[in-house]
Amino acid sequence: MLKVGCHQSIAGGYRAMAQEAKELGATTLSYFSRNPRGGGVRALDLKDMQAFHFLGQEMGLFPIVAHAPYTYNLASDKTHVRSFALSSMKEDLQRMDHIPGNYYNFHPGSHVGQGVEKGIELIVSALNDLLKTDYQTIILLEAMAGKGSEIGRSFEELQSILQGLDHPQRVGVLLDTCHLYDAGYDIKEDLQDVLQDFDKTVGLNKLKAMHINDSKNPFASHKDRHEKLGLGSLGIETFKNIVKHSYLSTLPLILETPQDFEGYKQEIQLLGQLAFS
Ligand code: FE
Ligand code: FE
Ligand code: ZN
Repeated sequence: MLKVGCHQSIAGGYRAMAQEAKELGATTLSYFSRNPRGGGVRALDLKDMQAFHFLGQEMGLFPIVAHAPYTYNLASDKTHVRSFALSSMKEDLQRMDHIPGNYYNFHPGSHVGQGVEKGIELIVSALNDLLKTDYQTIILLEAMAGKGSEIGRSFEELQSILQGLDHPQRVGVLLDTCHLYDAGYDIKEDLQDVLQDFDKTVGLNKLKAMHINDSKNPFASHKDRHEKLGLGSLGIETFKNIVKHSYLSTLPLILETPQDFEGYKQEIQLLGQLAFS
């Protein structure tokens, strides 16, 4: 059974989000752990989270994948930017312990001119600080398109981060189809080769979830602009190959395409159909 969902708004609370997932025909979901631009956090409503925990179990909605705001930068050259990201992540993970058994993904960061090596060093040290506390949630590094000075644009960079961790078993990887293609991994023509490369460099068992997006830009453009499935440079066949793949089809697959409710509903249906086509 395929696990497909989309990025949803948490504005109405957790329970409302589960209800919306049901109406979408989704079997997983993602949401921003807090406002992606401001970093403001919702008041903690434990009753709502508990209701979501039980409702989600009943619906078979877990694991879900909460997304950290993309403004966090653990690799910044500014101490206050790094410590804001780190303390926000701690708070996000503390909250997620009320809905155990799920994933929390974040963008590794941008080195803003300090160099990849320095950036990775900063990310590793922040994560090791984070992992000193016993959160239950598995953290996922998102593979990036390589826009600007983004870290995580290659499997080697992701592996360098994982290698530095004191508790690597608590951290996994999330692959985003748009980012992969924009970064120069040809999942359109050679999905199998790309996965073999990932397996050799990182280990396929570290891959815990995927973002399913078409790309507005050509191969290796390093742009990161998501497109609706089938309307971008990746095309429907790519997504068919993913949902038919023996390992990938077992992962939570999250849509982050520029869609409204109806559009997401259709894309969720489409992926289900492609799996059985
Ligand atoms: Fe992301
Ligand atoms: Fe993504
Ligand atoms: Zn993206």
